[in-house]
Amino acid sequence: MPINIAIDGTAGSGKGTLAKQLAKKLGFGCLDTGAIYRSVAYYMVENGVDLSKGENIAKAVKKINFKVVFEADENGNKVQKNILDGTDLGEKIRTEEISLASSIVSQVKEVREFATKIQHEIAGSFDVVVEGRDIGTVVLPNANYKFFLTASPEVRARRRLKQLNLPEENYESILEEIVERDRRDMTRALSPLKAAEDAVYIDNSNQLPEETLREMLSYIK
Ligand code: C5P
Repeated sequence: MPINIAIDGTAGSGKGTLAKQLAKKLGFGCLDTGAIYRSVAYYMVENGVDLSKGENIAKAVKKINFKVVFEADENGNKVQKNILDGTDLGEKIRTEEISLASSIVSQVKEVREFATKIQHEIAGSFDVVVEGRDIGTVVLPNANYKFFLTASPEVRARRRLKQLNLPEENYESILEEIVERDRRDMTRALSPLKAAEDAVYIDNSNQLPEETLREMLSYIK
């Protein structure tokens, strides 16, 4: 059985970066599950699907031609590619518009089923760190290790600003977007964002990434 490590957490908690660093350290693959929801959202936005109606989203996800592949980079690390209609979406799924759209489409049952099936296939195939919102609770309840990462909204907004290379004047709108996304992710009926009871809970507001990584590694034998 492949080893699975689940990392869940809020937007901007550093889980993406830490999942990658942890995977590298352990020689595992790393699956960014948010990228699947983002890719679905991208497809819907590109095709003009009216996101105010769940039934439109449920219908549209049936037509999507999407897959996740892993390609080895020059160091032999497995790198995730999100392929829509045969083309790697790359950074196109990283805009603020797609961030918000992804938190809308991810509320729909058919989208969650679509994304979860892909995640199960990958987690069953090789040792992998899987990063998302519902991994330790719903997708991989039997994961070998589980972590839940968060930080204060203000700290997360600052990190996002830096990551997206945006000027200070964008701080308030980024903060609002983070608070809105938290609210939507935590209050949705299906697979809401929450820490699994057996997850290691880390608030990294006052930690450097390397400190969080060290703390996580200390739990892994
Ligand atoms: O992690 P990331 O911010 O890229 O995720 C984008 C959105 O996808 C989240 O706000 C959330 O609504 C959704 N998501 C989810 N379940 C996951 C991963 C992401 O619902 N496992």
